[in-house]
Amino acid sequence: MRATKALIHIDRLKSNILMVREHLRKNKNVAICMPVKADAYGHGAVRIAEEAIRCGVDYLAVATVDEGLELRNAGISAPVLLFSQFLKEEAVETARARLIPFIGDAEAAELFAAAVASGGCSRLPVFLKIDTGMGRMGCRPEDAPALAAFIASFPTLEYAGTATHLAVSDSAEPRDIEYTGLQLTRFKSALDGIRGKGLSPGIVTAANTGATLYYPEAWFDMARPGILLYGYPPDITNSAEPRFSGPRFAVRPVMELESAVVAIKQVKRGESVSYGRTWIAEHDTYTGILPLGYGDGLPRGLSGKFSVIINGKSYPGVGRICMDQCMVDLGASPDIERFAAASVFGGEMPGALDAAEIARRTGTIPYEICCGITKRVPRVYTN
Ligand SMILES: *Cc1c(COP(=O)(O)O)cnc(C)c1O
Repeated sequence: MRATKALIHIDRLKSNILMVREHLRKNKNVAICMPVKADAYGHGAVRIAEEAIRCGVDYLAVATVDEGLELRNAGISAPVLLFSQFLKEEAVETARARLIPFIGDAEAAELFAAAVASGGCSRLPVFLKIDTGMGRMGCRPEDAPALAAFIASFPTLEYAGTATHLAVSDSAEPRDIEYTGLQLTRFKSALDGIRGKGLSPGIVTAANTGATLYYPEAWFDMARPGILLYGYPPDITNSAEPRFSGPRFAVRPVMELESAVVAIKQVKRGESVSYGRTWIAEHDTYTGILPLGYGDGLPRGLSGKFSVIINGKSYPGVGRICMDQCMVDLGASPDIERFAAASVFGGEMPGALDAAEIARRTGTIPYEICCGITKRVPRVYTN
């Protein structure tokens, strides 16, 4: 196997799940749905799903029908929510795989109701999706009671749950806290309208990571924290708002990106390293070459802004990150053996970077860093 790999620390995943479950117990017993979309945020959907179910996660969720089929083909039988809209030609497969679609309009309900029958099933669960202010999938809150009744009218559909998604639950800005309040108010009044029609909204779910942490009033029957379970709480600093203060939630990054120093090279003062000659040695030194680049998902924008840990010591990256390689400055007298491992992010040694810090330095979010680790990088599961 190549030197560059994503170590997936299953022990950390387990402790994150247990921590979140403990946290959700503070109020009442709330079920957990673990999103494993985008190959489990880059961690490998099948293995993560299996471990999550073993840890007592109740539901899984995917974004695409193919992602759901991957889980089913691997023998995973747990309930799987389908967050995004299936295509017309995917409806029968969706039913056959017993994925539970989010339904946000009448046409989608009709399509799925017909697909259930032609897929050879008698009746399958669906969730009603209400757009309370995310501006994405879902019906308008005022249309929810009628759509709920429409769904319930199909003998092939079981109206099993009601969901919404929050746009700014991870922000401590006063106007964002107000907006989340408004979304929850709209959601609750839609639920009242549904109940007013004599229908049960089933499993009610609204909380992503931000709301799982900060809005117990958004927990309802099931939370859907994604990035939190992969080890990244939202980065909320300097908040005067009491709900956002208190101890930092001590989840641990599940993914550690590791590479190795596959060659050690002498570089003399005044010589340059990599494309663009952006780095020129100020002293005689040695560089280590890592077989890791933007082709593996290490953002090129991180050039000159990262370091790696080798044998417990931090070494700065130098020069442009290439597609397949990057270089670090090992200093004038390196005591590093060739082929030594280099931890790039997600290690737990002092000075280690995590995907959140890499994201800050490249103007993005840890989600994109983890999802962006490409398929060229083998996922290696460790305990
Ligand atoms: C991705 C997603 C989640 C999880 O979001 P996090 O920010 O990772 O907690 C929950 N619900 C829906 C509908 C999603 O698309």
